[in-house]
Amino acid sequence: MVVEQLDSNIKNSKNILLVSHINPDGDTLGSMCAMYSLIRDNYKKSCEMVVVSKFPEVYTFLPNSDKVKHLEDFDLSREYDLVINLDVAAIDRCSDAKILFDRAKCTVNIDHHETNNNYGIINIVEPNASATGEVLTGIAQKLNWIISLDSAICLYTAIVTDTGGFKFSNTTPRTLEYAGKLLEYGIDPSDIYQKCYESNSKDMVLFQSYCINKAQFLKNDSIAYTIVYKKDLEKFNNNCEDFTDGLTEKLRAIVSTKIAFVVKELHSGASKVSMRSKNIDIAQVCTALGGGGHKFAAGALIKANPEKAVKMILSEIDNRKLC
Ligand code: 5GP
Ligand code: MN
Repeated sequence: MVVEQLDSNIKNSKNILLVSHINPDGDTLGSMCAMYSLIRDNYKKSCEMVVVSKFPEVYTFLPNSDKVKHLEDFDLSREYDLVINLDVAAIDRCSDAKILFDRAKCTVNIDHHETNNNYGIINIVEPNASATGEVLTGIAQKLNWIISLDSAICLYTAIVTDTGGFKFSNTTPRTLEYAGKLLEYGIDPSDIYQKCYESNSKDMVLFQSYCINKAQFLKNDSIAYTIVYKKDLEKFNNNCEDFTDGLTEKLRAIVSTKIAFVVKELHSGASKVSMRSKNIDIAQVCTALGGGGHKFAAGALIKANPEKAVKMILSEIDNRKLC
């Protein structure tokens, strides 16, 4: 079985690297930090952990997050025995950590994205799982791993953030069963909720209100989108990624919205789209634009300025007659 392959590879590896995806969210960071303590507690081994973009302030409460290093501090010529990617939908989503992944003796791809093409040597990809944290909780159960409080906090955070606090349609009986089990390890769900959702800075809330204020609505308000320019982020005295976190969901929360998206201008001049829908498959739209994701939450990096990116997105939606 594939989990047994994972088990024997962890046992046989001297140096292990855990990798998260670009613009990290609660699932990739929660799963990575959970894997760190799971391997520490069950195999008495220490792993290295890497992020390829800024570590969001909001997730610094995750146990062992202080041990996560930025890719810039890594020697890219190193060869690891084992590299484990967590929540990395496609290999290009971990930027230059791909170099370390490709050179490793063994690679593991633990994920839950439908668009994942099983790029690892060992692949544990479950598209029906709400979060990579759910996949990892299942692995821990199958391998009878000890789950410490540290691991439980991280796994629960991964699941709670990718289900939007158990509100999204990816929440299944198994999701809640696992979350319930994690509560038995002594975690405080209200504390984790507050740390994830009620710790926004004043500037971030004001910035998001500004972005919502200038949103555009098309086709009887069934499409809602807003563009985030570099200069806007600078105006609100911020240049970090997490200022747009949750913004697309706010546009989706409007009763008329069927598809919502946010297009963010990047320093390179390219654009990053974050898309959400209520019940329309938009993964196909983002895949056509070179990205991917889930049916109702997907994204893509588009090599065009924001205005051109919006045109490309709208024409993909139009071509499929989605709205
Ligand atoms: P978000 O809008 O939160 O950045 O991403 C929503 C979902 O789409 C996430 O599950 C994420 O993994 C996926 N996603 C976002 N951007 C990309 C991308 O550029 N490529 C791929 N393959 N998936 C993406
Ligand atoms: Mn995820």
